[in-house]
Amino acid sequence: MRFRNPTAEIFVPDGKSEDEALRQTTHLGIGAHPDDLEINMAHGILECFGRADRRFTGVTCTDGAGSARAGVYADYSNEQMVEVRRQEQRAAAHVGRYGAMIQLAYTSAQVKSPASRAELTLELADILRIARPKVVYTHNPADKHATHIAVCSATIAALRMLKPDERPERVYGCEGWRGLDWLPDSHKVVLSMDAHPNLAMALMGVFDSQITGGKRYDIAAAGRRAANASFLESHAVDTASAAAFAVDLTPLLADETLTPAAYVQRLIGEFQAEVRKEWTAIGEG
Ligand SMILES: [Zn+2]
Repeated sequence: MRFRNPTAEIFVPDGKSEDEALRQTTHLGIGAHPDDLEINMAHGILECFGRADRRFTGVTCTDGAGSARAGVYADYSNEQMVEVRRQEQRAAAHVGRYGAMIQLAYTSAQVKSPASRAELTLELADILRIARPKVVYTHNPADKHATHIAVCSATIAALRMLKPDERPERVYGCEGWRGLDWLPDSHKVVLSMDAHPNLAMALMGVFDSQITGGKRYDIAAAGRRAANASFLESHAVDTASAAAFAVDLTPLLADETLTPAAYVQRLIGEFQAEVRKEWTAIGEG
């Protein structure tokens, strides 16, 4: 594949041709930064691991420049950090046996700018046309990181460029910088994270530059998954010990006049109505 940015790459862990690797894709994750797939979209990786009939492909849109650095990384230059993060993303692809790992190497500023995000959108559409995944994971539209929602926007725009028969069956907006516990249950997709719990931890553990760099994302994500599983239903026993929540984004493909921004406002409106109903039920609405 030819990419727009000279430092962009596709890495195929098992050495197949790029084309063959991409065409085997069944589950595809599109994340903003190196580590977003593993921290926020690992369901797709776990669903495919060890399965002959499924294959995960990862797409990381930015080069991860500008991240916080501490410990052994404190004196690293920006260029050195970008290289470390690229290598960590490749290592995760090895650990998780991805079919392919694409790093598009945009800057965060480019992803947030509508003009250059249009370039990213075209590139994502090209990848999706070749890979033809059944399931797509990206960031959720209520995330509080601007680069994450910009990637969500580009993903939706790219999916809308596909012909109906090229589109995935399911599109999930995953938790990241902000959980989705608040989402009304009728819109909440509960993704069990019980398969390969060791692998789930190993996938996050390779991102040493981010974890030693000052944030225990691995512990935080495992804690959120455990909390999601237990706090989902107050009157039922736990059916999973770890769960990730996602927003179903397929309504944005069914109705192309609905913007992601309007869709998330609608969901927040339903959450507001749900809280009001609980207060009304105790006579204080
Ligand atoms: Zn991120």
